[in-house]
Amino acid sequence: MTKHIFVTGGVVSSLGKGLTSASIGLLLERRGLRVRMQKLDPYLNVDPGTMSPYQHGEVYVLDDGSETDLDLGHYERFTSGPLSRQSNYTSGQIYQRVLDKERRGEYLGRTVQVIPHVTDEIKNAVLGLTGPDVDVVITELGGTVGDIEGLPFTEAIRQIPLDVGKENCLFIHLTLVPYLKAAREAKTKPTQHSVGQLRQIGIQPDILIVRCERPLPREHTDKIALFCNLEKHCVLVEVDKEYSIYEVPMSLAEDNLDQIIVNKLRLNAGRLQIDEWQELMHRVRNPENEVTIAVVGKYIDHRDAYKSIYEALDHAGFAHGARVLVKRIEAEELEKTDPDQLLRGVDGILVPGGFGMRGIEGKIHAVRYARENGVPYFGICLGMQCAVIEYARNVIGWTDANSTEFATDTPHPVICMLEEQKSVTYKGGTMRLGAQPCVLTEDSKAAACYGSNKISERHRHRYEFNPRYRPEFVEAGLIPTGEHAHGPLVEVVEIPDHPWFVAVQYHPEFKSKPDRPHPLFHGFVEASLKRHGQRAEVLV
Ligand code: GLN
Repeated sequence: MTKHIFVTGGVVSSLGKGLTSASIGLLLERRGLRVRMQKLDPYLNVDPGTMSPYQHGEVYVLDDGSETDLDLGHYERFTSGPLSRQSNYTSGQIYQRVLDKERRGEYLGRTVQVIPHVTDEIKNAVLGLTGPDVDVVITELGGTVGDIEGLPFTEAIRQIPLDVGKENCLFIHLTLVPYLKAAREAKTKPTQHSVGQLRQIGIQPDILIVRCERPLPREHTDKIALFCNLEKHCVLVEVDKEYSIYEVPMSLAEDNLDQIIVNKLRLNAGRLQIDEWQELMHRVRNPENEVTIAVVGKYIDHRDAYKSIYEALDHAGFAHGARVLVKRIEAEELEKTDPDQLLRGVDGILVPGGFGMRGIEGKIHAVRYARENGVPYFGICLGMQCAVIEYARNVIGWTDANSTEFATDTPHPVICMLEEQKSVTYKGGTMRLGAQPCVLTEDSKAAACYGSNKISERHRHRYEFNPRYRPEFVEAGLIPTGEHAHGPLVEVVEIPDHPWFVAVQYHPEFKSKPDRPHPLFHGFVEASLKRHGQRAEVLV
């Protein structure tokens, strides 16, 4: 029988509920349990695909092409259970289902209501993940307890123990205990209120994890336990991590969280096997080297807009024993400033994905700088398209070359929407979404990184390399080295006589894990470290 863990949050948002849920998933998996992770998001958009990164941070794409919340990125980086469309539901999706049923007459003339119809649909979404091969489903509820739009979700998860048995469900609530410098004291009142709100709905949390800037004295956690009706050992403190988010599972394990869960849900679990992770953390805390990577983007001031890219760079750094320092550069700045001023001294340049015109010319300047100065370059999605445009303009000499996304009537549409693409309507528009098979040229840098020439990577874009210009690019030295396994779509381009210049139409960052960095990030950071070393030699 599948057991359920529900993770809710209180007091404030951005507490790291996704990270904590993922860490719980990791601990349970490393006790031999089969875990499925899920996020319920109370907002009304059907998915985050249509939201600005400023609103929502990155859109995380799964193999099946679903565009999901970035917390699913944490799930994939920490755990290994499969994720799919069923792993992320929004209010928009839930209501859409209810309304579709209503239109089909499936409610047989009844009044359609939040309780029971919307809540039933939410329960279906949760129970849909259970099965004989699943020991635990961890469902994280987005937002903060008490939000109006979250109420149908809290109501639905309140009902689930009645359907599947109280003994099979566990509620974990995450809150903030603020430290007031003026009073030199940590304050537990907001946590008490937040738990009070949950109890009003009918949910008594079993475990409370309080986030705090600094360690909390025992008397505080005991007080929280008393006021919130919890056993003392079930109030855990998660202090901000000094080095890395990947330390969170270790500290929760030190507080016995996995054992508390195993006992409470009476899970048949093995011993916690976390030695490798511990070793990884040792490497994370003791880097032997350092490398600076410029990330040139358009949402550079937003912490989460390029989340998976920053994580993937870190992962590659872990593998090389190096701390990766990211220099975030606003692409528009490169349009106003001499690129040398902003990019001198960086060891590698990465241009990530993006949509729309703003900052494009700045990104193209960044590519040119990398190409001309032999700085390792990694282009991702739009970063590949910019590389192609730059090469067309500055090497081939088509100064008007562009993507039809930015100049519909350019005489040299080196990036364009292909006819066959226009006729295919995917969910969410005309985007190429999700995992697609790709074949790499044997002697390419990409194939060397992957150690294989058959790969599968995730896509999220509309525009493509225009195959009409392929001969001119090959002639001029920008070589397509990866193609869709079943078609003429160019997925990778490289400049063979550059130290490391690889640009890909897909999003490799979604498949990187702390203990298994993505091969291209691994290769890119390696090349950047090499450049770092060479620069150091010159200075000596
Ligand atoms: N805007 C480009 C396209 O739609 C690139 C998208 C991306 O970088 N994800 O093709």
